[in-house]
Amino acid sequence: MPNDNHDENSYNNLSLDHFMAGLKKRNPDEPEFHQAVYEVAESVIPFILENPKYQKAGIIQRMTEPDRTIIFRVVWEDDEGHIRINRGYRVQFNNSIGPYKGGLRFHPSVNLSILKFLGFEQTFKNSLTTLPMGAGKGGSDFNPKGKSEREIMRFCQAFMTELSYHIGPNTDVPAGDIGVGAREISFMFGQYKRLQHEFTGVLTGKALAFGGSLVRTEATGYGNAYFMEEMLRHHSDSINGKVCVVSGSGNVALYCCQKITQLGGKVVTLSDSSGFIYDKNGIDEDKLAYLIKLKTVQHGRLSEYAAAYGCEYHEGERPWGIPCDLAFPCATQNELDEADAKVLVANGCKAVSEGANMPCSAQAIRVFQQAQLIFGPGKAANAGGVAVSGLEMTQNSMRLAWSAKELEQRLQGIMVDIHKQCATYGEEDGYMNYVKGANIAGFIKVADAMLAYGVM
Ligand code: GLU
Repeated sequence: MPNDNHDENSYNNLSLDHFMAGLKKRNPDEPEFHQAVYEVAESVIPFILENPKYQKAGIIQRMTEPDRTIIFRVVWEDDEGHIRINRGYRVQFNNSIGPYKGGLRFHPSVNLSILKFLGFEQTFKNSLTTLPMGAGKGGSDFNPKGKSEREIMRFCQAFMTELSYHIGPNTDVPAGDIGVGAREISFMFGQYKRLQHEFTGVLTGKALAFGGSLVRTEATGYGNAYFMEEMLRHHSDSINGKVCVVSGSGNVALYCCQKITQLGGKVVTLSDSSGFIYDKNGIDEDKLAYLIKLKTVQHGRLSEYAAAYGCEYHEGERPWGIPCDLAFPCATQNELDEADAKVLVANGCKAVSEGANMPCSAQAIRVFQQAQLIFGPGKAANAGGVAVSGLEMTQNSMRLAWSAKELEQRLQGIMVDIHKQCATYGEEDGYMNYVKGANIAGFIKVADAMLAYGVM
């Protein structure tokens, strides 16, 4: 007997509206989670209706309910001796095809809705990589900005003290995300090793000296450029000679910029939370080297780049109004809305590939699809990061390390394969709907595993 929340109707008479109404009722005040589920349900529900075995087994209802959600208190001491309290989370979403896998985000905006949307997306993304990884996401509302190195260390140690009960190399393998880079991963890995008295590949994105993988830092950005190249190739085109607008200035944006440049494209923008730079001449390898140092070592602002190279700096604005052939949103969720999408289309943009998770709003995606613009959703386009995390897990298990060349080839192969899977299910009257393709391809693998396990 279905319970009050999942009424019988949602199994026998599955409809998008009814399903979404139930989901919203069960998960009030979680708009980002609703948005991520809606994007998937819109394309997967028609597929389920054609394949009743998934409907009868309540697979989509089960997939939208995390296996478990862990919420905990993190207490640490700041440099002035004040006691500080943050909230820590790990949403273990689905481990049907492998250990829970997904990043940790430290940002003041972190809440349950954001982590559930990210964990849910990760289910499909990890499935698409073809590697054996389930899905999870975690983090904290801790703001690393402006904190000293020692404060970050104390926070990471306190966070890991609780998280260590819930993770393990065969259980749940976290990594980085916004606000969590090599430094934070190192502090957390050290604390896990000390607490558990064992050295295992429990986190990915580690430094090379203790089990990290080459190409992991570059992987999400490189993968996004490879995915764009593959989408364009499918449409008899390429990145070569294209003007590209990129947002963000973290790992994803910087290395996406690098690969675009290597593929012959010209990146003219990057952004941070204060504004964006518009460098008409293009951000070449030398300028990028300056930026990587500025952002990752000095933790500086993009306005410093504008001053150093004498280019335009647009304070408080986003880069979508700059005319371009290709757009790569690589900053954060919902950074590109309907109005931005209309401007991109009006300016003749041909394709958009999401380096961040859910950077385009649902309305923006609708605008792109109506204009028949090529659109690569994050769960396919940015899967390169977690894919190389999967390769880091493999290397740790084998206790050996692959070369950069080997890893880059594998990454490129995975991105080509993801494109192929999307193309298998995305064809729609001559328009390649990558959203639909990614959702259905990602769904099938996890759904079939769940069916095989029976009722659980
Ligand atoms: N945070 C990244 C993502 O959104 C990487 C996750 C991982 O490497 O586990 O996919």
